[in-house]
Amino acid sequence: MHDFKYKNNHLYCEQVKVEDLAVKYGTPLYVYSHHTLIDHYIKLRKAFVQVFPLICYSVKANSNLAILKALVKRGAGLDIVSGGELFRALKAGCPPGKIVYASVGKTDKEIEDAIKAGILFFNVESLPEMENINRIAKKLNKVTNVAIRLNPDVEPKTHKFITTGKITNKFGIDLKSAYNILIYHSNFSNLKICGLHIHIGSQITEGSSFVAAIKKVITFINELKKEEISIQYLNIGGGLGIIYDNETPQTAFAYAKKILPLFKKTGLKVIMEPGRFIVGNAGILVVNVLYIKSTPKKKFIIVDGGMNDLIRPALYGAYHKILPLRANGDKKQALEKADVVGPICESADFFAKEREMPAVKEGDYLAVMSAGAYGFSMSSNYNSRRRAEEVMVSSAKAFVIRKRESYGDLVRNEAIPAFLLDL
Ligand SMILES: *Cc1c(COP(=O)(O)O)cnc(C)c1O
Repeated sequence: MHDFKYKNNHLYCEQVKVEDLAVKYGTPLYVYSHHTLIDHYIKLRKAFVQVFPLICYSVKANSNLAILKALVKRGAGLDIVSGGELFRALKAGCPPGKIVYASVGKTDKEIEDAIKAGILFFNVESLPEMENINRIAKKLNKVTNVAIRLNPDVEPKTHKFITTGKITNKFGIDLKSAYNILIYHSNFSNLKICGLHIHIGSQITEGSSFVAAIKKVITFINELKKEEISIQYLNIGGGLGIIYDNETPQTAFAYAKKILPLFKKTGLKVIMEPGRFIVGNAGILVVNVLYIKSTPKKKFIIVDGGMNDLIRPALYGAYHKILPLRANGDKKQALEKADVVGPICESADFFAKEREMPAVKEGDYLAVMSAGAYGFSMSSNYNSRRRAEEVMVSSAKAFVIRKRESYGDLVRNEAIPAFLLDL
């Protein structure tokens, strides 16, 4: 569910007419609904209320400070994957005790900063990383919490670029190696192994692979118990799918119904790391139609936003609904196949291919739906395009949460060496 709806044939975000925002702030423009964002977070919290999970929103899905702050204010923790995300998390006022840190490639500096900040724990992805965290903690004279990220070797049905829990993926540690680490963990004088972590992929719409992975981990925890090793936290990661097209993802309640029985009598503290589920349908990308180009074979709708603003179609062949901000009230209007493309010099620069589109003309605005997750956060300056403005709507008000970059921003950190300045 989300708060982007037509009223009198105009698309609204909550109580704000989106076209008014497009005119005022220009395009391409990201528009987020504060209500949708919070609503998704609360739905998940309610569904899992029996176990009082710590919900660590996955910062990489959308890392704008206002988005982080809105969730942190409601009690969310944050799941980070870099020093930059630690900086953002602290800046948004997240209590360090609610921050968990995953990534296969944490640097010494990143590890040191996170230990000093006092995060809840690292999700460790390899034995060498574990040795390194131990070494750095020792140097700082601290004992640091870690959770071992397990690779449960399950196959979630999703795009191959976003599966992370198969044994051929770079993430996590296989069960056998993890078992050995846990048995011999006395080697790690400055680590407390307090949890296990899994994150098997993204945009997973069926519960079965989550259930399979969690069952494997709970069996594993029971084996550890026999060796008198007890685990406090189970971090079940993120990955919950949302509706982009006609998927039928499980609701938060259906997901909870499948998962919660697995935790019975385990006494485990549950952590989850949803990203897309919380922010995906809370945002849209608004673009303006520059040209309609008809070629002998095809019709192209050329818009002023491109793959630098939203790369998911180019990267994963992802589907995003595209709606005009002004609907034609006529239900029987003719649709025509077109490609919706951006201005960038790449054939991968498209939002939709061979899409049945209503009649649109130059100057019309279009909304690329469900663009809240992995939209702005994956955007770039490719083709020296300034990154888009971001606006958050709450009821009848809109707030700029990131201004459009300037041309000056594009070259801010660049320098021309003196030898090139000689004539
Ligand atoms: C990306 C990521 C998530 C969030 O994934 P979603 O599919 O957006 O829910 C959670 N945990 C880890 C470790 C991640 O890398």
